[in-house]
Amino acid sequence: MITSSNHYINTFVIRVRFAPSPTGALHIGGVRTALYNYLLARQKGGTFLLRIEDTDQTRYVPGAEDYIIRSLRWLGIVPDEGVGFGGDYGPYRQSDRKEIYQEYALKLLERGHAYYAFDTPEELDAQRSSVENFIYNHSTRQGLKNSLNFSESETRAWLDQGKPYVIRLKVEPGRSILVSDLIRGDVHFQSGELDDKVLFKSDGMPTYHLANIVDDHLMGITHVIRGEEWLPSTAHHVLLYEGFGWKDTMPAFAHLPLILRPEGHGKLSKRDGAKFGMPVFPTDWQGTDTVEAVQGFDGAGFLPEAVINFLALLGWHPGDDREIFSINELIESFSIENIAKSGARFDYEKAKWFNQKYIQATDNAVLAKHIQPLAAAKGYRTDDNFLQTVAALMKERVTLLPDFVETGYYLFEPVKEYDTETLSKKWTPAIGPIFADLTQMLENLEPFDALNMEASVKAWMQEKGVKPGDILPLLRIAMAGTMKGPAVFDMAEALGKTETIERLKRLINRNA
Ligand code: GLU
Repeated sequence: MITSSNHYINTFVIRVRFAPSPTGALHIGGVRTALYNYLLARQKGGTFLLRIEDTDQTRYVPGAEDYIIRSLRWLGIVPDEGVGFGGDYGPYRQSDRKEIYQEYALKLLERGHAYYAFDTPEELDAQRSSVENFIYNHSTRQGLKNSLNFSESETRAWLDQGKPYVIRLKVEPGRSILVSDLIRGDVHFQSGELDDKVLFKSDGMPTYHLANIVDDHLMGITHVIRGEEWLPSTAHHVLLYEGFGWKDTMPAFAHLPLILRPEGHGKLSKRDGAKFGMPVFPTDWQGTDTVEAVQGFDGAGFLPEAVINFLALLGWHPGDDREIFSINELIESFSIENIAKSGARFDYEKAKWFNQKYIQATDNAVLAKHIQPLAAAKGYRTDDNFLQTVAALMKERVTLLPDFVETGYYLFEPVKEYDTETLSKKWTPAIGPIFADLTQMLENLEPFDALNMEASVKAWMQEKGVKPGDILPLLRIAMAGTMKGPAVFDMAEALGKTETIERLKRLINRNA
């Protein structure tokens, strides 16, 4: 039996990698993979690297690599090495490493663990249509055009004639391959059921399998943490490590559970974002001719810390009932042992809950910086002092960053809509003159700040025998249109005397 070694120990420096293919915007599942790798690296004082796996030229999307780097930076999951980050193990982009793969493909041929196959796509199609569930393996390869069936001189002749070929992994039947996964435990594969994977193509490019293993080896990767969909390939990867004679330094494997759709059935797909009206990508992307634009968590108004916290708990649990984790707390608490085997439901409501909590805990000065472009886009005032006040007044009342200028629009422009239900109850014929009197009192008030206003309005209510419940709701509606706005005197101070008085008069005229 051949096994994948499990050297998950703390006594050596760990090196982990995030190895996305630049085939479009980075899905949130990929971001979670990057995050878990990052957390482990930081916790163990190890290295986290970014490798771009772009060997499949047919799926390459321009701009996707930049998108990945931009998104990692936005989230603060910054690689120590990799494309865009330097390092001693480069190049880190697979298309820049072509010669290396060729050399290793030939090495595997020499060692007898790979062979040339010359079957044309048409010939393989013919096999597929005549043999049910055809796979290229130990049994079918016997009747096909490959160097296992050709003599050496025949093979040489075919190669010399420039016949297109691929190099395939030679999988011997009759062996049990054990992958000791750090999350899933022992997973057994029967070699007889595996296909002879293509490792290298005659266009000079390796396939994912070859490039991935060669790079993990050459880059000194100690732990491969990746999505569950790669678990079946791991059997082939173990054979590759063995074929190269690298079993002793084979990385440990950890396959992360799927991320499920909000209703809990099926894998969350890139298309589910549009379908359920929620972001499934980290940052906005304008797309390309062939790839649609996407809205990310950033454009939807999330703070990166909230996204990190949400993603960390999507498949990992801390072992207690804590939910709010700073990045440093995550680094401290994270462990592969506490990653669940079963799929994790992508609960968008929960993501928003995290965002709400993080907004509430964020300094007004920082929030003001986030509000600034949103206010500018609406042509609102953008002076920092005022935006900090907006942050203070609204932070308990918003979920997403745009809510500051959408829900809280009345801090920037006149009321567009009044809560007519409350008005019809509170604006009695008798209240008109009383409200006008209050307006007059406030117009003469100096200084026009919340404290002074509160004291003066209290005194005025006592003097006139007016109950708070009869007048304060009207003040609030005059300023915000709604009963849900911030504390009434804080709002008046933020709006300033002129604007406040104008709004009070507007309500009087409206009801006159
Ligand atoms: N390039 C693969 C991907 O796009 C990497 C899988 C792995 O981490 O081995 O997911």
